[in-house]
Amino acid sequence: MPSHLEIINARKAFRTPEGGRLIALDGISLRLATAEFVTLLGPSGCGKTTLLRTISGFETLDDGDVVIDGIAMTQTPAHRRPVNTVFQRYALFDHMNVARNVGYALEIAGRDKREIRTRVGEMLELVGLTGMEKRSISQLSGGQQQRVALARALAGKPKLLLLDEPLSALDKNLRQKMQHELKTIQRELGIGFVFVTHDQEEALTMSDRIAVLAHGQIQQVEPPSVLYQRPANLFTADFLGESNLLRATLDGSQARLSDGQTFDAPRAAGEATLLLRPESLGFAVPEGPKLSFTGRIRETYYSGKDHQIELETLAFGTIRAVIRANGTVPEIGREVTLHASATGLHLIDEVAP
Ligand code: ATP
Repeated sequence: MPSHLEIINARKAFRTPEGGRLIALDGISLRLATAEFVTLLGPSGCGKTTLLRTISGFETLDDGDVVIDGIAMTQTPAHRRPVNTVFQRYALFDHMNVARNVGYALEIAGRDKREIRTRVGEMLELVGLTGMEKRSISQLSGGQQQRVALARALAGKPKLLLLDEPLSALDKNLRQKMQHELKTIQRELGIGFVFVTHDQEEALTMSDRIAVLAHGQIQQVEPPSVLYQRPANLFTADFLGESNLLRATLDGSQARLSDGQTFDAPRAAGEATLLLRPESLGFAVPEGPKLSFTGRIRETYYSGKDHQIELETLAFGTIRAVIRANGTVPEIGREVTLHASATGLHLIDEVAP
């Protein structure tokens, strides 16, 4: 099946004011299936927005290509591409009411008035703003403005929607609500969404697949659970939430931690890093093979749904664990032992510096 969107070896460098070159995209290749929700996730400056702008045509590539539904877009200007963008700051027209904002692109394209009215109605229904046609933008809440921006971007029936940190101006509760709504709308429309964020939780919640970027390169592209549980490198492991990264020495059948504990690891001999997510550790002793860590509780943090625990160990320094809020938490300073099952552990072929 042909890809909905294909980015082939995209390269882009900018001139810096000092006369140097800054490589923003360093050979990025990525495919998006029809109706797929893919998130570009990475730290500030890694190239997320630049990649999005090369898909929309606001930025030209130095090398490589953007192909949408089998058609190369290199020679196609932004306004002729079958894509639209929702921006972080919405970019709404304050002097126009909601209906005119949503229908603006159709109006410019010279579409029939009745057709525009129907389409605007459909879009406002889709985003839950029916009846708000005549409201002015300044009379809307942040969440409502976000919905108008979404309705406007979808009014021209793009094949692909690009979203550049569209929820970052909203407070946490509204943000979570909009995350779910966006996902539902995307599924209903059946079009591809390319979503930019630097928020790990947001990426994990919303995406079919996440592409992790660093320094203009893709580190890994996988569904959220694979990326979280089986990251390919230390950067991805660390960037996607809390992690305990422990050095391990492999002998071909077993791995040994620095305190002498071993576990099965049928892979080539060498040095590697064991990833233990905080939620895989607990006070209960698991059945079967296990790893155990004894130390003093240095700090605990309560979040409502869980307790985060920092355990100070001699062999590994701080080990982090998360236990459910209804579990009992020993007081700070107490010596305790945390356990993790030693089956299905994930090793990363890199050694932490
Ligand atoms: P953020 O999360 O902060 O928005 P980002 O991952 O979206 O970051 P980009 O905006 O794509 O990053 O920028 C990638 C790199 O390219 C950065 O170092 C940025 O400073 C640089 N850059 C982006 N646009 C230009 C430009 N027009 N001229 C020069 N440098 C640019």
